[in-house]
Amino acid sequence: MLPSHGKGRRFEPFYAHWNIKSWAVLIPKYHLSKISTEVEGSIPSVPTRIIPFTGNEYEKPYWKDREVPEVSILEQIKKLVELQKIDAEIYEFKKGLKEKPALIEEFKERFEEQKTDLKGLEEKLKTLQLERKAKELDLQIKEQDIAKANTQLSQIKTNKEYTAKLTEIEYIKSDQSILEEKILISYEEIDRLTALIGKEKTVLVEEEKKFLAQKKEVEDTVKEIQQKVKVLETKRNQIVPDIDRITLARYERILVNKEGLAIVSIQGNACGGCYMNVPAQMINEIKMHDKIVYCEMCARMLYLEEDLK
Ligand SMILES: [Zn+2]
Repeated sequence: MLPSHGKGRRFEPFYAHWNIKSWAVLIPKYHLSKISTEVEGSIPSVPTRIIPFTGNEYEKPYWKDREVPEVSILEQIKKLVELQKIDAEIYEFKKGLKEKPALIEEFKERFEEQKTDLKGLEEKLKTLQLERKAKELDLQIKEQDIAKANTQLSQIKTNKEYTAKLTEIEYIKSDQSILEEKILISYEEIDRLTALIGKEKTVLVEEEKKFLAQKKEVEDTVKEIQQKVKVLETKRNQIVPDIDRITLARYERILVNKEGLAIVSIQGNACGGCYMNVPAQMINEIKMHDKIVYCEMCARMLYLEEDLK
């Protein structure tokens, strides 16, 4: 039993001495659940109320507590049509929201690709530099070899040995000049690559700015849309309590299954949703306003424009 407030504790909130383990903000789960959960982080702003959590979690829409007024079928149809206008907008907005993250991902991918390209160039530069160093080291060794050979030359006694040493020196010198040529080429290549990397880096900085701007633009749009959806959901919540619960549940199920279009008018003799012919008998049934009539083809709720007047 919940102790009542009062008894000299009038300045405390009425729930102050309830033995409550936690508070649960309960949201009617069935309510637009499918559409609402499609957007990450969006909480359906359907009517909520705070119910003390007593161990058994239960959920119920707040209007379940009170008598739903007896509303005529015609009045309900009018309310449903009103609701449909809002829900169609919500549906379109949420569809748009679903596409936005992919857009950011696309920008990001493009940017990451450019980053990878730059990394590849930088690695190539590193390799070239290492190769050049190795060649320079080789060149030093060749110089030492020539110096050594020249010293040996002065100590040689025979002509034959002298000629052989000279030939050896010529070979080393020829190797040396090939190596020098290679080093020169690698310097040029390194210069070219360094310039290219510098240029690519500048491009990348610009691309990053562009990417961040695009990302922000998309995120701002998402926020804007979420705000609009919130406003629409508030409007929606003002209408739903006037609609019979079972009818509303049916309407919402169709809404989810039929791409945000649950109630449609008769156009000519056709359903305004699937454009299939509606038999005259069914049109008569709609006119009688004693039950809600569903399209036999697409299962949407049907109404007549003239009934809205
Ligand atoms: Zn239909």
